Amino acid sequence: MFLWLVFGTTISPLIFQLVAETNGRESAEFINAFAFSKGAFITYISVILLTAFIVFIEKKWKKIKEKEWLQKRYTTAILGCLSAFLLLTGLYNTKLYYTLYKCQTYTDLEKWLTKNLPFPMDSFTSIVYSIHAFNATNNKIKIAANLAKDTYRQPVTDEVNDSINIIYILGESFIKSHASLYGYKLKTTPFMDAEQKKGNLVAFSDVVAPFNLTTLVEKNTFCCNSLSDGEEWYQTPYFPILFKKAGYQVTMWDIQRDFSKYALFTFSVNSFIYNKEIKKYAYSYTSDKSFLYDGDLVDDFFKSKASRLEKKNLLIFHLLGQHISASDRYPHTKYFSKFSYKDINRDESYMTKDKKQEIAEYDNATLYNDYVIKKIAERYADKTTVMIYFSDHGEEIYDYRDSKGRKNAGSSGVTHNLVKYQYEVPFVIWFSTPFMEKYPNLVKSIRESKDKPFMTDNVCQILFHIVGMKTKWYKADRDLISPHYVPKKRMIAGVDYDKYVKNR
Ligand SMILES: [Zn+2]
Repeated sequence: MFLWLVFGTTISPLIFQLVAETNGRESAEFINAFAFSKGAFITYISVILLTAFIVFIEKKWKKIKEKEWLQKRYTTAILGCLSAFLLLTGLYNTKLYYTLYKCQTYTDLEKWLTKNLPFPMDSFTSIVYSIHAFNATNNKIKIAANLAKDTYRQPVTDEVNDSINIIYILGESFIKSHASLYGYKLKTTPFMDAEQKKGNLVAFSDVVAPFNLTTLVEKNTFCCNSLSDGEEWYQTPYFPILFKKAGYQVTMWDIQRDFSKYALFTFSVNSFIYNKEIKKYAYSYTSDKSFLYDGDLVDDFFKSKASRLEKKNLLIFHLLGQHISASDRYPHTKYFSKFSYKDINRDESYMTKDKKQEIAEYDNATLYNDYVIKKIAERYADKTTVMIYFSDHGEEIYDYRDSKGRKNAGSSGVTHNLVKYQYEVPFVIWFSTPFMEKYPNLVKSIRESKDKPFMTDNVCQILFHIVGMKTKWYKADRDLISPHYVPKKRMIAGVDYDKYVKNR
Protein backbone atom coordinates (compact mmCIF):
# COMPACT_ATOMS: atom_id res chain seq x y z
CA MET A 1 0.00 0.00 0.00
CA PHE A 2 2.87 2.33 0.90
CA LEU A 3 4.64 1.62 -2.40
CA TRP A 4 1.46 2.14 -4.34
CA LEU A 5 0.45 5.39 -2.67
CA VAL A 6 3.89 6.99 -2.50
CA PHE A 7 5.59 5.70 -5.64
CA GLY A 8 2.72 4.39 -7.75
CA THR A 9 4.33 0.97 -7.98
CA THR A 10 3.80 -2.51 -6.57
CA ILE A 11 6.37 -4.87 -5.10
CA SER A 12 8.95 -5.71 -7.77
CA PRO A 13 12.54 -7.01 -7.96
CA LEU A 14 13.73 -3.40 -8.38
CA ILE A 15 12.44 -2.53 -4.90
CA PHE A 16 14.62 -5.27 -3.40
CA GLN A 17 17.61 -4.14 -5.41
CA LEU A 18 17.16 -0.59 -4.15
CA VAL A 19 16.93 -1.87 -0.57
CA ALA A 20 20.05 -4.01 -1.04
CA GLU A 21 22.05 -1.13 -2.51
CA THR A 22 20.98 1.41 0.09
CA ASN A 23 23.37 2.54 2.80
CA GLY A 24 22.65 4.21 6.13
CA ARG A 25 22.79 7.77 4.90
CA GLU A 26 20.43 7.08 2.02
CA SER A 27 17.98 5.36 4.40
CA ALA A 28 17.92 8.42 6.63
CA GLU A 29 17.26 10.64 3.63
CA PHE A 30 14.54 8.30 2.49
CA ILE A 31 12.78 8.39 5.84
CA ASN A 32 12.91 12.17 5.86
CA ALA A 33 11.52 12.40 2.37
CA PHE A 34 8.75 9.81 2.35
CA ALA A 35 7.95 8.48 5.83
CA PHE A 36 5.88 11.57 6.62
CA SER A 37 4.17 11.96 3.26
CA LYS A 38 0.42 11.83 2.77
CA GLY A 39 0.51 8.33 1.26
CA ALA A 40 2.57 7.10 4.20
CA PHE A 41 0.03 8.47 6.70
CA ILE A 42 -2.85 6.81 4.86
CA THR A 43 -0.89 3.54 5.10
CA TYR A 44 -0.27 3.95 8.85
CA ILE A 45 -3.91 4.80 9.54
CA SER A 46 -5.11 1.83 7.50
CA VAL A 47 -2.81 -0.52 9.43
CA ILE A 48 -4.08 0.89 12.74
CA LEU A 49 -7.73 0.55 11.66
CA LEU A 50 -7.20 -3.02 10.44
CA THR A 51 -5.49 -4.00 13.68
CA ALA A 52 -8.29 -2.42 15.71
CA PHE A 53 -10.84 -4.34 13.67
CA ILE A 54 -9.09 -7.67 14.31
CA VAL A 55 -8.82 -6.98 18.03
CA PHE A 56 -12.50 -6.07 18.11
CA ILE A 57 -13.60 -9.27 16.34
CA GLU A 58 -11.39 -11.39 18.63
CA LYS A 59 -12.96 -9.85 21.70
CA LYS A 60 -16.40 -10.60 20.29
CA TRP A 61 -15.44 -14.14 19.23
CA LYS A 62 -16.92 -15.90 22.24
CA LYS A 63 -20.32 -14.37 21.58
CA ILE A 64 -20.19 -15.16 17.87
CA LYS A 65 -19.29 -18.78 18.62
CA GLU A 66 -22.33 -19.22 20.81
CA LYS A 67 -24.71 -18.24 17.98
CA GLU A 68 -27.23 -21.03 17.49
CA TRP A 69 -27.01 -21.34 13.69
CA LEU A 70 -23.29 -21.97 13.94
CA GLN A 71 -23.89 -24.89 16.30
CA LYS A 72 -26.13 -26.77 13.89
CA ARG A 73 -24.73 -30.01 12.48
CA TYR A 74 -25.16 -29.22 8.77
CA THR A 75 -23.45 -25.79 9.08
CA THR A 76 -20.50 -27.48 10.75
CA ALA A 77 -20.42 -30.10 7.98
CA ILE A 78 -20.50 -27.48 5.20
CA LEU A 79 -17.85 -25.34 6.87
CA GLY A 80 -15.70 -28.45 7.46
CA CYS A 81 -15.90 -29.48 3.80
CA LEU A 82 -15.19 -25.98 2.62
CA SER A 83 -12.12 -25.72 4.87
CA ALA A 84 -10.82 -29.10 3.69
CA PHE A 85 -11.32 -28.06 0.07
CA LEU A 86 -9.50 -24.76 0.55
CA LEU A 87 -6.69 -26.50 2.40
CA LEU A 88 -6.18 -29.07 -0.36
CA THR A 89 -6.33 -26.62 -3.30
CA GLY A 90 -4.06 -24.31 -1.33
CA LEU A 91 -1.53 -27.09 -0.84
CA TYR A 92 -1.76 -28.04 -4.51
CA ASN A 93 -1.12 -24.44 -5.58
CA THR A 94 2.07 -24.15 -3.53
CA LYS A 95 3.63 -25.84 -6.57
CA LEU A 96 3.75 -22.26 -7.86
CA TYR A 97 6.62 -21.57 -5.44
CA TYR A 98 8.37 -24.78 -6.35
CA THR A 99 8.30 -23.90 -10.07
CA LEU A 100 9.52 -20.40 -9.22
CA TYR A 101 12.38 -21.81 -7.16
CA LYS A 102 13.42 -23.89 -10.20
CA CYS A 103 13.81 -20.74 -12.37
CA GLN A 104 17.45 -19.71 -12.35
CA THR A 105 17.77 -17.61 -15.50
CA TYR A 106 16.07 -14.54 -16.86
CA THR A 107 14.40 -16.58 -19.63
CA ASP A 108 12.96 -19.07 -17.10
CA LEU A 109 11.64 -16.23 -14.96
CA GLU A 110 10.06 -14.54 -17.94
CA LYS A 111 8.37 -17.83 -18.91
CA TRP A 112 7.19 -18.36 -15.35
CA LEU A 113 5.65 -14.89 -15.31
CA THR A 114 3.73 -15.37 -18.56
CA LYS A 115 2.53 -18.79 -17.43
CA ASN A 116 1.27 -17.44 -14.12
CA LEU A 117 -0.70 -14.46 -15.32
CA PRO A 118 -2.68 -12.52 -14.08
CA PHE A 119 -0.03 -10.18 -12.81
CA PRO A 120 0.39 -8.39 -10.38
CA MET A 121 -0.01 -11.26 -7.97
CA ASP A 122 -1.02 -11.12 -4.32
CA SER A 123 1.48 -9.35 -2.06
CA PHE A 124 2.93 -12.53 -0.59
CA THR A 125 3.60 -14.14 -3.96
CA SER A 126 5.02 -10.97 -5.43
CA ILE A 127 7.41 -10.61 -2.48
CA VAL A 128 8.59 -14.20 -2.94
CA TYR A 129 8.91 -13.66 -6.70
CA SER A 130 10.73 -10.32 -6.35
CA ILE A 131 13.28 -11.65 -3.86
CA HIS A 132 13.92 -14.70 -6.00
CA ALA A 133 14.20 -12.74 -9.27
CA PHE A 134 16.55 -10.27 -7.59
CA ASN A 135 18.81 -13.04 -6.27
CA ALA A 136 18.81 -15.02 -9.51
CA THR A 137 19.81 -12.06 -11.69
CA ASN A 138 22.13 -10.62 -9.10
CA ASN A 139 24.51 -13.58 -9.06
CA LYS A 140 25.33 -13.15 -12.73
CA ILE A 141 25.71 -9.42 -12.36
CA LYS A 142 28.18 -9.97 -9.54
CA ILE A 143 30.26 -12.17 -11.86
CA ALA A 144 30.00 -9.52 -14.58
CA ALA A 145 30.99 -6.72 -12.19
CA ASN A 146 34.06 -8.64 -10.99
CA LEU A 147 35.08 -9.27 -14.57
CA ALA A 148 34.64 -5.56 -15.31
CA LYS A 149 37.10 -4.73 -12.53
CA ASP A 150 39.63 -7.31 -13.81
CA THR A 151 39.28 -6.10 -17.39
CA TYR A 152 39.85 -2.52 -16.37
CA ARG A 153 43.05 -3.45 -14.51
CA GLN A 154 44.66 -4.92 -17.62
CA PRO A 155 46.30 -2.67 -20.19
CA VAL A 156 44.34 -2.16 -23.41
CA THR A 157 45.49 -0.09 -26.40
CA ASP A 158 44.35 0.50 -29.94
CA GLU A 159 46.11 1.42 -33.17
CA VAL A 160 44.47 4.78 -33.80
CA ASN A 161 46.99 7.62 -33.49
CA ASP A 162 44.70 10.40 -34.58
CA SER A 163 41.30 11.59 -33.47
CA ILE A 164 38.32 9.32 -34.17
CA ASN A 165 34.61 9.07 -33.36
CA ILE A 166 32.88 5.71 -33.15
CA ILE A 167 29.09 6.01 -33.04
CA TYR A 168 27.14 2.99 -31.91
CA ILE A 169 23.36 3.14 -32.29
CA LEU A 170 21.15 0.33 -31.07
CA GLY A 171 17.76 0.66 -32.75
CA GLU A 172 14.47 -0.94 -31.79
CA SER A 173 11.83 -3.15 -33.45
CA PHE A 174 12.87 -2.37 -37.04
CA ILE A 175 11.32 -4.69 -39.61
CA LYS A 176 14.02 -4.98 -42.28
CA SER A 177 11.51 -5.27 -45.12
CA HIS A 178 9.95 -1.90 -44.14
CA ALA A 179 13.15 -0.02 -45.04
CA SER A 180 13.44 1.42 -48.53
CA LEU A 181 17.15 0.72 -48.01
CA TYR A 182 16.20 -2.96 -48.23
CA GLY A 183 13.71 -2.58 -51.06
CA TYR A 184 10.47 -1.40 -49.41
CA LYS A 185 8.37 0.49 -51.91
CA LEU A 186 7.59 3.45 -49.63
CA LYS A 187 10.49 5.85 -49.09
CA THR A 188 11.00 5.22 -45.36
CA THR A 189 14.79 5.66 -45.17
CA PRO A 190 15.66 8.64 -47.40
CA PHE A 191 18.84 9.55 -45.52
CA MET A 192 20.33 6.07 -45.53
CA ASP A 193 19.33 5.58 -49.19
CA ALA A 194 21.14 8.77 -50.20
CA GLU A 195 24.24 7.96 -48.16
CA GLN A 196 24.40 4.50 -49.70
CA LYS A 197 24.18 6.05 -53.15
CA LYS A 198 27.00 8.46 -52.28
CA GLY A 199 29.11 5.54 -51.09
CA ASN A 200 29.18 6.57 -47.43
CA LEU A 201 26.96 3.75 -46.20
CA VAL A 202 27.07 -0.03 -46.46
CA ALA A 203 23.84 -1.96 -45.82
CA PHE A 204 24.55 -5.55 -44.78
CA SER A 205 22.19 -8.02 -46.37
CA ASP A 206 22.30 -11.12 -44.18
CA VAL A 207 22.19 -10.16 -40.49
CA VAL A 208 19.97 -11.66 -37.79
CA ALA A 209 19.33 -10.96 -34.11
CA PRO A 210 19.93 -13.78 -31.64
CA PHE A 211 16.68 -13.01 -29.75
CA ASN A 212 13.47 -11.07 -30.25
CA LEU A 213 13.67 -9.56 -26.75
CA THR A 214 15.41 -6.21 -26.25
CA THR A 215 17.15 -6.99 -22.99
CA LEU A 216 18.59 -10.31 -24.10
CA VAL A 217 19.91 -8.65 -27.25
CA GLU A 218 21.36 -5.80 -25.18
CA LYS A 219 23.27 -8.12 -22.87
CA ASN A 220 24.60 -10.25 -25.71
CA THR A 221 25.57 -7.39 -28.03
CA PHE A 222 27.18 -5.22 -25.36
CA CYS A 223 29.30 -8.14 -24.12
CA CYS A 224 32.08 -9.92 -26.02
CA ASN A 225 30.49 -13.37 -25.96
CA SER A 226 29.62 -15.46 -28.98
CA LEU A 227 26.41 -17.47 -28.61
CA SER A 228 27.34 -19.86 -31.42
CA ASP A 229 30.47 -20.72 -29.42
CA GLY A 230 28.37 -21.43 -26.34
CA GLU A 231 29.47 -18.39 -24.32
CA GLU A 232 27.21 -16.53 -21.89
CA TRP A 233 27.20 -12.72 -21.76
CA TYR A 234 28.38 -12.43 -18.14
CA GLN A 235 31.47 -14.55 -18.84
CA THR A 236 32.93 -11.85 -21.12
CA PRO A 237 33.46 -8.11 -20.58
CA TYR A 238 31.00 -5.33 -21.37
CA PHE A 239 32.75 -3.93 -24.47
CA PRO A 240 32.53 -0.17 -23.68
CA ILE A 241 34.92 -0.89 -20.78
CA LEU A 242 37.70 -1.81 -23.21
CA PHE A 243 37.19 1.44 -25.12
CA LYS A 244 37.25 3.52 -21.97
CA LYS A 245 40.41 1.76 -20.83
CA ALA A 246 41.99 2.41 -24.25
CA GLY A 247 41.51 6.14 -23.70
CA TYR A 248 38.15 6.81 -25.31
CA GLN A 249 35.54 9.16 -23.92
CA VAL A 250 32.52 6.85 -23.67
CA THR A 251 29.02 8.33 -23.54
CA MET A 252 25.75 6.42 -23.16
CA TRP A 253 22.40 8.08 -23.96
CA ASP A 254 19.68 5.47 -23.48
CA ILE A 255 16.00 6.38 -23.91
CA GLN A 256 14.94 2.96 -22.63
CA ARG A 257 16.58 3.41 -19.25
CA ASP A 258 13.23 4.26 -17.67
CA PHE A 259 10.99 2.42 -20.11
CA SER A 260 8.61 0.25 -17.97
CA LYS A 261 11.04 0.79 -15.11
CA TYR A 262 9.57 -1.81 -12.73
CA ALA A 263 9.11 -4.58 -15.28
CA LEU A 264 11.41 -7.60 -15.13
CA PHE A 265 12.97 -6.92 -18.54
CA THR A 266 14.06 -3.36 -17.72
CA PHE A 267 15.13 -4.37 -14.23
CA SER A 268 17.30 -7.21 -15.45
CA VAL A 269 19.20 -5.19 -18.05
CA ASN A 270 19.49 -1.97 -16.05
CA SER A 271 20.80 -3.72 -12.99
CA PHE A 272 23.61 -4.85 -15.28
CA ILE A 273 24.44 -1.89 -17.56
CA TYR A 274 23.91 0.68 -14.79
CA ASN A 275 25.45 -1.40 -12.03
CA LYS A 276 27.57 0.92 -9.86
CA GLU A 277 30.86 -0.84 -10.65
CA ILE A 278 30.20 -1.30 -14.34
CA LYS A 279 29.11 2.30 -14.74
CA LYS A 280 32.38 3.47 -13.22
CA TYR A 281 34.53 1.44 -15.64
CA ALA A 282 32.37 1.81 -18.75
CA TYR A 283 31.20 5.40 -19.19
CA SER A 284 32.52 8.92 -19.03
CA TYR A 285 28.95 10.30 -19.11
CA THR A 286 25.42 8.87 -19.05
CA SER A 287 22.00 10.47 -18.83
CA ASP A 288 19.12 9.38 -16.63
CA LYS A 289 16.56 11.82 -17.99
CA SER A 290 13.26 10.78 -19.62
CA PHE A 291 12.45 11.64 -23.21
CA LEU A 292 9.32 11.41 -25.31
CA TYR A 293 10.98 10.88 -28.69
CA ASP A 294 14.40 9.67 -29.84
CA GLY A 295 15.08 13.12 -31.33
CA ASP A 296 14.73 14.64 -27.83
CA LEU A 297 17.33 12.22 -26.52
CA VAL A 298 19.77 13.29 -29.24
CA ASP A 299 19.08 17.00 -28.61
CA ASP A 300 19.76 16.49 -24.93
CA PHE A 301 23.06 14.81 -25.73
CA PHE A 302 24.12 17.65 -28.04
CA LYS A 303 23.32 20.17 -25.30
CA SER A 304 25.19 18.28 -22.57
CA LYS A 305 28.88 18.63 -21.84
CA ALA A 306 29.24 14.96 -22.81
CA SER A 307 29.04 16.06 -26.45
CA ARG A 308 32.31 17.99 -26.16
CA LEU A 309 34.59 15.73 -28.14
CA GLU A 310 37.86 14.40 -26.81
CA LYS A 311 40.50 13.02 -29.13
CA LYS A 312 38.84 9.60 -29.26
CA ASN A 313 35.16 9.07 -28.62
CA LEU A 314 32.72 6.20 -28.41
CA LEU A 315 29.18 7.60 -28.57
CA ILE A 316 26.45 5.10 -27.70
CA PHE A 317 22.75 5.76 -28.33
CA HIS A 318 19.94 3.38 -27.49
CA LEU A 319 16.71 4.36 -29.23
CA LEU A 320 13.02 3.52 -28.90
CA GLY A 321 12.83 3.32 -32.71
CA GLN A 322 9.63 1.70 -33.90
CA HIS A 323 8.65 0.03 -30.61
CA ILE A 324 4.97 -0.82 -30.34
CA SER A 325 2.85 1.38 -30.51
CA ALA A 326 4.69 2.95 -33.43
CA SER A 327 2.31 5.90 -33.52
CA ASP A 328 3.78 7.05 -30.16
CA ARG A 329 7.34 7.05 -31.51
CA TYR A 330 7.30 10.14 -33.73
CA PRO A 331 5.95 13.70 -33.49
CA HIS A 332 2.82 13.94 -35.63
CA THR A 333 4.02 16.88 -37.67
CA LYS A 334 3.22 17.17 -41.35
CA TYR A 335 6.66 15.92 -42.38
CA PHE A 336 6.66 12.81 -40.19
CA SER A 337 2.98 11.96 -40.83
CA LYS A 338 3.93 11.32 -44.42
CA PHE A 339 2.14 7.99 -44.95
CA SER A 340 -1.52 7.10 -44.37
CA TYR A 341 -3.74 4.08 -45.02
CA LYS A 342 -4.07 5.27 -48.63
CA ASP A 343 -0.42 4.39 -49.26
CA ILE A 344 -0.81 0.79 -48.11
CA ASN A 345 -1.80 -1.42 -51.01
CA ARG A 346 -2.78 -4.65 -49.31
CA ASP A 347 -5.83 -6.81 -49.80
CA GLU A 348 -5.55 -9.85 -47.49
CA SER A 349 -8.87 -10.97 -46.03
CA TYR A 350 -7.92 -9.71 -42.54
CA MET A 351 -6.91 -6.25 -43.80
CA THR A 352 -9.02 -3.26 -42.69
CA LYS A 353 -8.64 0.49 -43.03
CA ASP A 354 -7.54 0.76 -39.37
CA LYS A 355 -4.87 -1.88 -39.81
CA LYS A 356 -3.60 -0.15 -42.95
CA GLN A 357 -3.39 3.04 -40.93
CA GLU A 358 -1.33 1.22 -38.28
CA ILE A 359 1.04 -0.03 -40.97
CA ALA A 360 1.36 3.53 -42.29
CA GLU A 361 2.15 4.75 -38.77
CA TYR A 362 4.83 2.10 -38.45
CA ASP A 363 6.31 3.41 -41.71
CA ASN A 364 6.15 6.97 -40.37
CA ALA A 365 8.04 5.84 -37.26
CA THR A 366 10.62 4.27 -39.60
CA LEU A 367 10.93 7.57 -41.45
CA TYR A 368 11.45 9.37 -38.13
CA ASN A 369 14.07 6.80 -37.11
CA ASP A 370 15.95 7.57 -40.33
CA TYR A 371 15.77 11.27 -39.44
CA VAL A 372 17.24 10.57 -35.98
CA ILE A 373 20.12 8.63 -37.52
CA LYS A 374 20.69 11.53 -39.92
CA LYS A 375 20.65 14.00 -37.05
CA ILE A 376 23.45 12.10 -35.32
CA ALA A 377 25.53 11.33 -38.41
CA GLU A 378 25.43 14.83 -39.89
CA ARG A 379 26.83 16.36 -36.75
CA TYR A 380 30.04 14.34 -37.18
CA ALA A 381 30.19 14.26 -40.99
CA ASP A 382 33.19 16.62 -41.20
CA LYS A 383 35.23 14.61 -38.68
CA THR A 384 36.82 11.17 -38.81
CA THR A 385 33.71 9.23 -37.88
CA VAL A 386 32.36 5.74 -38.34
CA MET A 387 28.86 4.74 -37.26
CA ILE A 388 27.23 1.36 -36.75
CA TYR A 389 23.46 1.20 -36.64
CA PHE A 390 21.39 -1.95 -36.24
CA SER A 391 18.08 -2.89 -34.72
CA ASP A 392 17.86 -5.08 -31.62
CA HIS A 393 15.33 -7.32 -33.41
CA GLY A 394 12.53 -7.18 -35.95
CA GLU A 395 8.77 -6.92 -35.42
CA GLU A 396 5.46 -7.64 -37.14
CA ILE A 397 2.83 -5.21 -38.33
CA TYR A 398 0.22 -7.39 -40.11
CA ASP A 399 2.93 -8.39 -42.57
CA TYR A 400 1.83 -11.95 -43.28
CA ARG A 401 -0.82 -12.73 -40.65
CA ASP A 402 -3.37 -10.86 -38.56
CA SER A 403 -0.91 -9.97 -35.81
CA LYS A 404 1.32 -7.12 -34.67
CA GLY A 405 4.23 -6.89 -32.23
CA ARG A 406 6.25 -9.97 -31.36
CA LYS A 407 3.63 -12.53 -30.42
CA ASN A 408 4.96 -16.02 -30.72
CA ALA A 409 3.42 -18.43 -33.07
CA GLY A 410 1.11 -20.17 -30.60
CA SER A 411 -0.11 -23.56 -31.73
CA SER A 412 1.42 -23.30 -35.21
CA GLY A 413 4.94 -23.16 -33.71
CA VAL A 414 7.84 -21.23 -35.21
CA THR A 415 7.30 -20.45 -38.89
CA HIS A 416 9.54 -19.12 -41.69
CA ASN A 417 7.74 -15.81 -41.65
CA LEU A 418 7.94 -15.43 -37.89
CA VAL A 419 11.72 -15.89 -37.97
CA LYS A 420 12.06 -13.61 -40.99
CA TYR A 421 10.04 -10.69 -39.64
CA GLN A 422 11.05 -10.89 -35.99
CA TYR A 423 14.75 -11.81 -36.29
CA GLU A 424 16.13 -10.40 -39.54
CA VAL A 425 17.46 -6.89 -38.91
CA PRO A 426 18.83 -3.90 -40.80
CA PHE A 427 22.55 -3.52 -40.10
CA VAL A 428 24.50 -0.62 -41.57
CA ILE A 429 27.94 0.93 -41.30
CA TRP A 430 28.23 4.58 -42.24
CA PHE A 431 31.49 6.51 -42.57
CA SER A 432 32.21 10.20 -42.96
CA THR A 433 34.17 11.33 -46.02
CA PRO A 434 37.27 12.16 -43.89
CA PHE A 435 37.10 8.59 -42.53
CA MET A 436 36.93 7.16 -46.06
CA GLU A 437 39.98 9.21 -47.06
CA LYS A 438 41.97 8.21 -44.02
CA TYR A 439 41.07 4.50 -43.91
CA PRO A 440 40.48 3.29 -47.49
CA ASN A 441 41.48 -0.28 -46.60
CA LEU A 442 38.96 -0.48 -43.78
CA VAL A 443 36.24 0.85 -46.06
CA LYS A 444 37.21 -1.75 -48.64
CA SER A 445 36.95 -4.65 -46.18
CA ILE A 446 33.60 -3.34 -44.93
CA ARG A 447 32.25 -3.22 -48.48
CA GLU A 448 33.57 -6.69 -49.27
CA SER A 449 31.83 -8.19 -46.22
CA LYS A 450 28.37 -6.82 -46.89
CA ASP A 451 26.73 -10.12 -47.90
CA LYS A 452 28.33 -12.41 -45.36
CA PRO A 453 26.01 -14.11 -42.86
CA PHE A 454 26.22 -12.60 -39.38
CA MET A 455 24.49 -12.60 -36.00
CA THR A 456 24.61 -9.39 -33.97
CA ASP A 457 25.97 -10.90 -30.73
CA ASN A 458 29.47 -10.51 -32.24
CA VAL A 459 29.11 -6.85 -33.22
CA CYS A 460 31.86 -5.69 -30.83
CA GLN A 461 34.43 -7.61 -32.91
CA ILE A 462 33.79 -5.21 -35.82
CA LEU A 463 34.44 -2.22 -33.54
CA PHE A 464 37.64 -3.83 -32.22
CA HIS A 465 38.77 -4.39 -35.83
CA ILE A 466 38.09 -0.79 -36.84
CA VAL A 467 40.25 0.69 -34.08
CA GLY A 468 42.76 -2.17 -34.00
CA MET A 469 42.02 -2.95 -30.36
CA LYS A 470 44.77 -5.03 -28.80
CA THR A 471 42.92 -7.33 -26.45
CA LYS A 472 42.53 -11.05 -25.93
CA TRP A 473 38.79 -10.55 -26.43
CA TYR A 474 39.29 -9.78 -30.13
CA LYS A 475 38.68 -12.93 -32.19
CA ALA A 476 39.21 -12.60 -35.95
CA ASP A 477 37.01 -15.61 -36.76
CA ARG A 478 34.03 -13.75 -35.21
CA ASP A 479 34.83 -10.45 -36.92
CA LEU A 480 32.51 -9.93 -39.89
CA ILE A 481 34.90 -7.55 -41.70
CA SER A 482 38.03 -9.65 -41.25
CA PRO A 483 39.35 -11.95 -44.01
CA HIS A 484 39.57 -14.64 -41.31
CA TYR A 485 35.86 -14.46 -40.51
CA VAL A 486 34.17 -17.85 -40.20
CA PRO A 487 30.35 -17.82 -40.33
CA LYS A 488 28.88 -20.14 -37.70
CA LYS A 489 25.59 -21.87 -37.08
CA ARG A 490 22.93 -19.28 -36.29
CA MET A 491 20.44 -20.84 -33.86
CA ILE A 492 17.44 -18.59 -33.31
CA ALA A 493 14.03 -19.34 -31.85
CA GLY A 494 15.17 -22.95 -31.55
CA VAL A 495 15.88 -23.42 -35.28
CA ASP A 496 18.98 -23.29 -37.48
CA TYR A 497 18.26 -20.05 -39.35
CA ASP A 498 20.30 -20.86 -42.47
CA LYS A 499 18.74 -24.28 -42.95
CA TYR A 500 15.24 -23.29 -41.94
CA VAL A 501 14.78 -19.93 -43.64
CA LYS A 502 17.49 -19.77 -46.29
CA ASN A 503 17.51 -23.47 -47.24
CA ARG A 504 21.30 -23.51 -47.24
ZN1 LIG B 1 13.49 -4.38 -28.58
